[in-house]
Amino acid sequence: MHYAHTVIPGTQVRLRDIDPDASGGLTKDEGRERFASFNATLDAMQEELYAAGVHALLLILQGMDTAGKDGAIRNVMHNLNPQGCRVESFKVPTEEELAHDFLWRVHKVVPRKGMVGVFNRSHYEDVLVVRVHSLVPEHVWRARYDQINAFERLLTDTGTIIVKCFLHISKDEQEKRLLAREQDVTKAWKLSAGDWRERERWDEYMAAYEEALTRCSTEYAPWYIIPANRKWYRDLAISEVLVETLRPYRDDWQRALDAMSQARLAELKAFRHQQTAGATRL
Ligand code: ADP
Repeated sequence: MHYAHTVIPGTQVRLRDIDPDASGGLTKDEGRERFASFNATLDAMQEELYAAGVHALLLILQGMDTAGKDGAIRNVMHNLNPQGCRVESFKVPTEEELAHDFLWRVHKVVPRKGMVGVFNRSHYEDVLVVRVHSLVPEHVWRARYDQINAFERLLTDTGTIIVKCFLHISKDEQEKRLLAREQDVTKAWKLSAGDWRERERWDEYMAAYEEALTRCSTEYAPWYIIPANRKWYRDLAISEVLVETLRPYRDDWQRALDAMSQARLAELKAFRHQQTAGATRL
């Protein structure tokens, strides 16, 4: 990948070594142009993914408040056919969800073959907010890294392509964004005192993210760190990761589509043949 930072499985993540301000040496206009080109490719790929029905795509987005998960979903999914997409947001678990294992609510909503599923937050909250706020004992959340890896292995073994993006903003950038929201009365509905409260635990969140990214970046479901202080760069980096991850599967989809085309044509030919034979008999 050119724009995102790939977490090589088995390596230790140190977020402070990764610049959230990265621009890849591009101007905003250049970045937007490249993004548009990736987006067009993604559009074509989604059509093949949908029609072939061989794989599902699951995009997992994580990040601190204001990191831009909503904006990324709006921009990166912008060109896709809504029929083939579904966004799932994970909030504070309900009483029923808490009465099950932590993956229960997640497994129920993973995308079926042919579909693109986007997770706005995910099962990673169960090793992030849950850890920072000690919502379960340490041995419980500690066991979850392996449980998450096993769950994601099951999904990838059964046809789901997983792309995990951590939107990396700086603490200063978060403050700017939170303050900007307060200035814009039309966006006051976005305000939350909770965002300021969570911000006080920034370092604890960073430690939790570092461990999650380190322990759960695998060959089959790697983590990508997306420099996200610049929104245009964030969108560019995510769209590149998606396009480059999906590209190797295109041959499979093409083969499935060719086989479908052959079968449909043969069916039609047999139908026409039958019709002609019927007409001759008359
Ligand atoms: P968002 O910030 O994603 O736009 P909300 O303001 O409704 O949406 O925030 C959702 C909240 O739910 C977040 O604070 C998040 O940490 C919390 N949450 C999500 N999953 C869990 C979980 N498994 N346990 C506890 N809290 C969770």
